[in-house]
Amino acid sequence: MSDFRMETKCVQSGYRPGNGEPRQIPIIQSTTFKYDTSEDMGKLFDLEAEGYFYTRLQNPTNDYVAAKLADMEGGTAAMLTSSGQAANFFALFNICEAGSHIVASSSIYGGTFNLISVTMKKMGIDATFVAPDCTEEELNAAFKENTRAVFGETIANPALTVLDIEKFAKAAHSHGVPLVVDNTFPTPVNCRPIEWGADIVTHSTTKYMDGHGAAVGGAIIDSGNFDWMAHADKFPGLCTPDESYHGVTYAEKFGKEGAFITKATSQLMRDLGSIQAPQNAYILNLGLESLHVRMERHVENGLAVAEFLNGHEKVKSVSYPGLPTDKYYEVAQKYLPKGGCGVVSFELEGGRPAAEAFMKELKLAAIETHVADARTCCLNPATSTHRQMTDEQLLAAGIPAGLIRISCGLESKEDLIADLAQALDAIN
Ligand SMILES: *Cc1c(COP(=O)(O)O)cnc(C)c1O
Repeated sequence: MSDFRMETKCVQSGYRPGNGEPRQIPIIQSTTFKYDTSEDMGKLFDLEAEGYFYTRLQNPTNDYVAAKLADMEGGTAAMLTSSGQAANFFALFNICEAGSHIVASSSIYGGTFNLISVTMKKMGIDATFVAPDCTEEELNAAFKENTRAVFGETIANPALTVLDIEKFAKAAHSHGVPLVVDNTFPTPVNCRPIEWGADIVTHSTTKYMDGHGAAVGGAIIDSGNFDWMAHADKFPGLCTPDESYHGVTYAEKFGKEGAFITKATSQLMRDLGSIQAPQNAYILNLGLESLHVRMERHVENGLAVAEFLNGHEKVKSVSYPGLPTDKYYEVAQKYLPKGGCGVVSFELEGGRPAAEAFMKELKLAAIETHVADARTCCLNPATSTHRQMTDEQLLAAGIPAGLIRISCGLESKEDLIADLAQALDAIN
């Protein structure tokens, strides 16, 4: 499929039914698979033959959808996980172990920040965080002899900073390690990080890819570009025999194209079991079939709302990388020429009380801990996800008390703006 345009890949990649087979992806609702001889099954366990034996590791429905995502991102292999959190953990833990170190952008999703700075730290994996707009010197200075991966988000949730992917890829590669990019917010429709040098791409498919707030899920896509064997001393898990899997050396047997995902499947999925339910993979694929159409509208509505808020007297500031006044406008023009996403952050004059009063007045935008779905929703971190923090602590974390994050859905932009306007009018 890889010669087709993105619109065609969204609809048709991954699953090509044969004569008389179902047109829609079959949901293989089965934990296990049947074989005629033990010898046949043995070949699967030895990774000598391709096939399925137990859904904790792999399922055909998931693999159809993963193949579509690999094609959309321009990668060579992919896997689905139960959530975006599992995707980021697997992507990093596949190449890191106790004693390793990660360089990460400080502007990332809160859950991923906790994963890296708290939970992975308990496993003996350290991290250094750098600002996404740091200089090359600052970035290079963050590396250590035991650095094994670099991590960032194309458009960060919720800060809406834009990663200079080429700069981060260059620094990662000059230190002999891969760049992992979480591409959840733009999706491959608006940015393909692999084309800018990213080696591994991750997703919370819970967001735009599903797009309907229906199924939690994640994905990992390997570019197939990183030469593990050229840095074999850094990546023993890929470049030396895996005694827990019959002594297979993944980078030798499966090459650059297949080693990363094969190891993550046969080792991490086997031991940690975070597979996406085939039913959810099916729902995800329904979302993917219209992703290219929906992203265009999310961007159109996001920009219209950002422009409206930007000119309003009761609004102190607006963050949206598509606004020419935004700090990340230029880097967004480079990496996101078609626009980024439908999420806009803005700060009201009047702080926390104003934000609370404003949100109470909204008729269309629902208050939710969610983003990137067909229905517009919004959140005031100071009174919800970050409510344990004082105003001073919030400010230090770059989250003013009056900040509101709005995720523009697929409704009419005129209706959305009218809703925001009446709520702004109602507060004083
Ligand atoms: C939501 C999100 C995650 C976590 O994904 P879940 O599917 O909720 O586990 C990771 N990264 C980004 C950028 C996200 O927005």
